[in-house]
Amino acid sequence: MTYRVTLIPGDGTGPELTEATRRVLEATSVEFDWDVQHAGTDVMEQNGGNPLPEHVLDSIRANGTALKGPITTPIGGGFRSVNVTLRQVLGLYANLRPGRSIKGLQTRYEDVDLVIVRENTEDLYAGIEHMVGRDAAESIKIITREASERIARFAFEYAVANGRHKVTAVHKANIMKLSDGLFLESCRTVAADYDGRIEFEDRIVDNMCMQLVQKPELYDVLVLPNLYGDIVSDLVAGMVGGLGVAPGANIGLDAAVFEPVHGSAPKYAGLDKANPTAMILSGALMLRHLGYPTEAQRVEDAVRDVIAAGVATTYDLGGPAGTAAFADAIVARLEN
Ligand code: NAD
Repeated sequence: MTYRVTLIPGDGTGPELTEATRRVLEATSVEFDWDVQHAGTDVMEQNGGNPLPEHVLDSIRANGTALKGPITTPIGGGFRSVNVTLRQVLGLYANLRPGRSIKGLQTRYEDVDLVIVRENTEDLYAGIEHMVGRDAAESIKIITREASERIARFAFEYAVANGRHKVTAVHKANIMKLSDGLFLESCRTVAADYDGRIEFEDRIVDNMCMQLVQKPELYDVLVLPNLYGDIVSDLVAGMVGGLGVAPGANIGLDAAVFEPVHGSAPKYAGLDKANPTAMILSGALMLRHLGYPTEAQRVEDAVRDVIAAGVATTYDLGGPAGTAAFADAIVARLEN
């Protein structure tokens, strides 16, 4: 079977990272028919000033799956983030960010194996803000039962499908008794359906951060509202080696977009310097999503082996190789 997947190269270092990932995925036995689509500032002029043309969205809707390189969001003025718009327009309500230690990578922690499930559509990111007079501003935090139960169910279903044993809901319900209280109550409601199969507990977000840096081995899958999810997932990314190795996925009912956590790192654009690991591991998440866990594991193992060998890695991992040579080494592992 051949999978038609939308491929968005992005900008900055995006095109070289996507190319490296495409080559690695093609070295597995899975066959892809790439539907290449461009988005971002580079295509605005041809599209009446629109950085996210409708045909890009149509392609993702039709194919159901996209692999996406990072896209630059100019600061101030300009356009709304293509990345945020994509998630909202396509209803990609779950942001999945696994954080797993990689052997051979120098970090303060060993054997971290956590999965962050972040709600992607509401909370303070609903963007409802206004000034109250000249000297005060209000941001409105939206938490609904529907979105909270949906993300909690996603976390439990992920745990079941991936052999994980526990889900921890993270909140600040002691202070925000209504909004975070509703998030926690929704998680408890959903947890009851998995009683006896998946353990459930909750933690207040500040305590969670302390516990993660002191004893990460106590935790497994974490489910969080949007803002805490944003912060805690970067904390976990830092524990396992930083942005260059942190993969991600945005998943909805009808479509899923796989992309690294990091941005377009424009200062390295075109220099064959950026680390392709995060993007390649995002590709492995896509393989799992498409129903190829064995191939996904092979890609993850090949990435880990090349990093552990330490001779074909990029500058940020202390190695001498460029993006393409790093990918070549992973391809060679897969082909042997
Ligand atoms: P960034 O992630 O691009 O870079 C932060 C730091 O990490 C830089 O020092 C960079 O050199 C380094 N880095 C990032 N990826 C790397 C890699 N693969 N290999 C080696 N080093 C890497 O973050 P930023 O500078 O804040 O953002 C740049 C642009 O990317 C901004 O316009 C931002 O809006 C956009 N962005 C896009 C996405 C996305 O497409 N999903 C996500 C985050 C940021």
